[in-house]
Amino acid sequence: MHRDKLLILGAGITGLSAGVSLSKEIYEANNIPGGICTSYYVNPESKKTYLYTDGETYRFEIGGGHWIHGADDYVMKFINRLSPVKCYERKSAVYFPDWDLYVPYPLQNHLSYLPRDIARKALDEIIQSDHRKDVFILADWLRLHFGKTLCELFFFPFHELYTAGLFTKIEPQDKYKTPVDKEQIIKGFKEKIPPAGYNTTFVYPERGLDGLIDKMAKACKVNFNKEVNEIDTKKREIFFKDGTSAKYKDLISTLPLNKVIKLTNLSVDELEPPYTSVLVINIGAKKGSRCPDHHWLYIPKSKSGFHRVGFYSNVDSSFLPKSSRGNNDRVAIYVEKAYLPKKNLEAEEIKRSCNEVVKELQSWMFIDEAEVIDPTWIEIAYTWSYPGSKWKHGAIQLLRQNGIYQIGRYGLWECQGIAKSIKDGLQVKYGR
Ligand SMILES: Cc1cc2nc3c(=O)[nH]c(=O)nc-3n(C[C@H](O)[C@H](O)[C@H](O)COP(=O)(O)OP(=O)(O)OC[C@H]3O[C@@H](n4cnc5c(N)ncnc54)[C@H](O)[C@@H]3O)c2cc1C
Repeated sequence: MHRDKLLILGAGITGLSAGVSLSKEIYEANNIPGGICTSYYVNPESKKTYLYTDGETYRFEIGGGHWIHGADDYVMKFINRLSPVKCYERKSAVYFPDWDLYVPYPLQNHLSYLPRDIARKALDEIIQSDHRKDVFILADWLRLHFGKTLCELFFFPFHELYTAGLFTKIEPQDKYKTPVDKEQIIKGFKEKIPPAGYNTTFVYPERGLDGLIDKMAKACKVNFNKEVNEIDTKKREIFFKDGTSAKYKDLISTLPLNKVIKLTNLSVDELEPPYTSVLVINIGAKKGSRCPDHHWLYIPKSKSGFHRVGFYSNVDSSFLPKSSRGNNDRVAIYVEKAYLPKKNLEAEEIKRSCNEVVKELQSWMFIDEAEVIDPTWIEIAYTWSYPGSKWKHGAIQLLRQNGIYQIGRYGLWECQGIAKSIKDGLQVKYGR
């Protein structure tokens, strides 16, 4: 990697981390830093959106609640130095609306919460499953590990919504999110057991993610409103939408891998992998009489098609307007609904989805009157791979040969959270 004329693309959390570490210029399409992690504020009276709070605002994030989990000491030290964090113990569950039943996450570890006959059947199927078998498709992996009963009850309908139907075509991914520990599963059939999984505790900055991002951005040189339109790898020049350009020797790119391949006009001789887009609906509302106290819920079945609902204000009351923090009469919520790849969603479809989601949350009595309904669109939200595909590896290598080093969740086309994204950025100077 050449240190002189090294530029960074994207001022999301990964690009900012690289900017702090390398002290090199960042080029960012948007007019604010932070990418999908950015927090913003909405006043319930004026409905105005702000990048700061005057107290009487809801705090939301563009990509829905962003909780930091799995950070090692190195990353935690970095975060804490800029912005002290609070630590939380996860409270999440699978919610079955037809039964009005909450089963702690992960479902397979908490079979005792299910009707006894279903739990018994599910347990027998899991015990009999032979995990040594090779499977190449996510749906097959789920069936092999959790059996027909749990798949029909939860895993298949949930993944149908979460992957917008792709789970029958893509390879298994994020296995760490779905632990398979037969001993714990048997124990959880007999009794209530403690939480398990990858994010049993998580942290969040005391002054919001925007507080952390603001500090990071101030430590970097970010050029805003600089959307990259083309990258000429021969001349080593980037062209921006505003008609300007910049020369480079090497690039650190946090932009999605498939986009960078297109921007460079390079080609990988394999089918491009799929991704899913997500409509995030941020809602500020009067609290409903049956609003749960969970941090987030996985939903296998919803009329309006969402697969996850999170409760910002159940994690921390600082997401609520100041006047509601003591009496807890409001709730700040995010809802995720997945789509097959789309650059944008029609305004009509967004409006319809927002109305349907709000109605459904009201019918579950999670919310009363909605004061703020603020949708955001994430074109590339979840990245997937076809079984056996070498596209990702090929694309990363090809770009490297042309002086472009891809890092971060979208740059590397891998499912990673904020902690890993920060580490990718901070460690880029060590030549990862
Ligand atoms: C729905 C959802 C929920 C999530 N929840 C969590 C969570 O709770 N905890 C967690 O740890 N992680 C979570 N994640 C993952 C987390 O969002 C990512 O790890 C992290 O935000 C990745 O940051 P990034 O900087 O790599 O990407 P981004 O945030 O996407 O930043 C990329 C930047 O590049 C810019 N850009 C794009 N194209 C161009 C262009 N052509 N020219 C110039 N600039 C461009 C964008 O504007 C953006 O600012 C979640 C992800 C999703 C999708």
